[in-house]
Amino acid sequence: MSNFILDNALVLTMDSAFTMVSQGAVAVRGGQIAAVGPSTEVVEQFPLWTRYDLQGRVLMPGLINCHTHLPMSLFRGVADDKELMDWLNNYIFPAEAAALNPEFVRTGTQLSLWEMLRGGTTTVVDMYMFEKVVAEECARIGMRAVLGQAMVDFPTPEYKSWGESFEGTREFIQSYAGHPLVVAALGPHAPYTVCPEHLQECHRLAEELNCPMVIHLAETQHENQQILDRYGRTSVSHLDHLGVLSKRLIAAHVVWPDEAEIGRLAQSGVGVGHCPQSNAKLACGIAPVVKMLQAGIPVGLGTDGCASNNDLDMWAEMQTANLLQKLNSHSCTVMNARETLHMATLGGAQAAHLDHLVGSIEVGKRADMIVVRHDSPHQIPLYDPISQLCYSTKSTDVTQVYIEGQLVMSDGLVPAIDEPELRLAVAEEAARVQTILRRN
Ligand SMILES: [Zn+2]
Repeated sequence: MSNFILDNALVLTMDSAFTMVSQGAVAVRGGQIAAVGPSTEVVEQFPLWTRYDLQGRVLMPGLINCHTHLPMSLFRGVADDKELMDWLNNYIFPAEAAALNPEFVRTGTQLSLWEMLRGGTTTVVDMYMFEKVVAEECARIGMRAVLGQAMVDFPTPEYKSWGESFEGTREFIQSYAGHPLVVAALGPHAPYTVCPEHLQECHRLAEELNCPMVIHLAETQHENQQILDRYGRTSVSHLDHLGVLSKRLIAAHVVWPDEAEIGRLAQSGVGVGHCPQSNAKLACGIAPVVKMLQAGIPVGLGTDGCASNNDLDMWAEMQTANLLQKLNSHSCTVMNARETLHMATLGGAQAAHLDHLVGSIEVGKRADMIVVRHDSPHQIPLYDPISQLCYSTKSTDVTQVYIEGQLVMSDGLVPAIDEPELRLAVAEEAARVQTILRRN
């Protein structure tokens, strides 16, 4: 792996002091950040290293997508404008039951990674079936990922029983121990699809294997009512009572925690993946993000799967998150551009429990960085770079993506993806899904 300097950039470090360096540079050695600062100082430190001129563009940490289902990009637009339970039970679950196999998962994952890399995402927290196939593609294409193997009490196209899925998940996690990009994880789907005993089994396995656990939590009021009827407590309290809330947990959504539950989430170190567009599209509600942040909960942003969004665009997610908090609180000052960018970068890394590695440009962290232009028509004039990044920048403004110091996307091209072949595979899978849904 080569050593190099990204030079002549507006470096937005996203460190805790929110340091910005104009005419700055970042030196990368073996996939790690070796120096950050004014160009002259960095170049003086490593005079012989190759320099790449970023022409004054923004150099910032890659975006962290804290909740998605990568293979579901193949369900993009298949059933929109439905009630949540109608959508799930009559479209998504039947389509998954009939269409899912390792090839579907491989093609869907490739499509998602292609889209994400073009938009500047460098870490993804995922949950799906056949997650080992997702892992193979993330490792091959070069995406950093926390990958939760989906687990439910009922049979799936992948596993006939809980016991089988439990053992398969153990093997999956063990096989990725020490991998530079992939963190394999448990993915018990939700409190309404996994019984209390199984949730506790998952928690014990996460402790034993020292790995994270990904779950959907308190997504709807309906879920809270269902868990209350079944177990006598709402979702977050239910997990708390089971002893499952911990710093290993990455909980998606968390739209409906009460005050006490917010306190418990903060105390136990749970990370939250806030998915504003999915929550809006499925009419779930607006998560109390400001309250959760004030309580000290690490909150990141997630797109959720493409069936409920319908894209993996973290810039749009930032804008939606910010606007919904303002609208919901009738206050324009409740969340600013800087806090929103934090959620998409260092805050996301904290929520995914990866902030020792990524989320900011600091010496010693892994070199996961993106280059963003700021001269597109929707971006000029430039008064305030932070405001511009939050409110008017789009995925198409990202020009380069580095992960582990590797250039994985440049000017829209992802070298590890064969575009014509992938387009063909996507069309074939979509035709198969359409046939299945017509039969239903
Ligand atoms: Zn989800």
